[in-house]
Amino acid sequence: MAQIIDGKLRAAKIKEELKIRVQALSGKGVVPKLAVLLIGDNPASKTYVSSKAKTCEELGMFSEVHHLPENVREEIVIDLLKGLNADTNIFGLMVQLPVPKHLNERKLLDIISPHKDVDGLCTVTAGKLIVGGEKGFVPCTPQGIMDLILSTGIELKGKRAVVVGRSNIVGKPVAFLLLEQHATVTIAHSRTADLGAVCREADVLVVAVGVPRLITGEMVKPGAVVIDVGTTKIEGRLVGDVDFEGASKVAGFITPVPGGVGPMTIAMLMKNTVLAAEAHLTRK
Ligand code: NAP
Repeated sequence: MAQIIDGKLRAAKIKEELKIRVQALSGKGVVPKLAVLLIGDNPASKTYVSSKAKTCEELGMFSEVHHLPENVREEIVIDLLKGLNADTNIFGLMVQLPVPKHLNERKLLDIISPHKDVDGLCTVTAGKLIVGGEKGFVPCTPQGIMDLILSTGIELKGKRAVVVGRSNIVGKPVAFLLLEQHATVTIAHSRTADLGAVCREADVLVVAVGVPRLITGEMVKPGAVVIDVGTTKIEGRLVGDVDFEGASKVAGFITPVPGGVGPMTIAMLMKNTVLAAEAHLTRK
């Protein structure tokens, strides 16, 4: 039976460590502040944004939420982002995704200054992740995933890693982070032939698809580390992309849904915002 990787516990530990760093920054007259743009009334987005604001408060940080209407004109959003880029009291700036269809998501993300891009999603930040060397902010969910994988004690060098899903938010960055740790990485997606055979090769299997219980126990290599990123709401309950019951009989380690990757995403957003404030102090 697999050991459960407790993301809630790990996230709580990270937040306790961050509290100390926030206190140290406050002592130097800098309180980390996160600005979040929420466009429209997507209920899930509203919930995520309010828990981000709540977590900032819990850690002694400031936050501000700019809630714009669903039909807002793109120029208004661009002007607001430019104003927040220039605001020296704000260290972290992010747009809650998804944005309404009439807005150009990539164009909006790329307005965010790389110094404030705590979600790690603008093109410059993503490019730095791929090129290596000088790092930008590591995107929150991939950063949380890596932390959970490494918490198992696995040595990634030379291991086979399979990432199912190739989004800019999760799949692609996590694949590059695994590569940086010298794993041999395969990225699978909706056109991958024989997904089961590909997954069974994985010492580390990261699944970020959004199809409930896509990965069954038969698709998991015995002893593998399985990270389930998927969250689909079914009858009010969050369901992952991995059939937990089947997979946990085969895997060595597995994340639950909820309580696995989800809590880590917010913890890493807070960590990046604290890093942004610390970097501001050293640039001063
Ligand atoms: P996304 O942008 O929709 O990407 C989904 C990926 O899955 C795509 O690359 C797609 O392939 C692939 N895919 C779809 N059906 C597939 C199939 N049958 N077999 C293999 N691959 C398939 O999603 P995302 O933003 O990466 O999010 C993925 C999941 O993670 C969602 O459930 C989301 O809610 C969850 N999530 C959770 C957190 C968290 O903090 N817990 C954070 C972010 C996302 P193609 O590219 O070929 O279309």
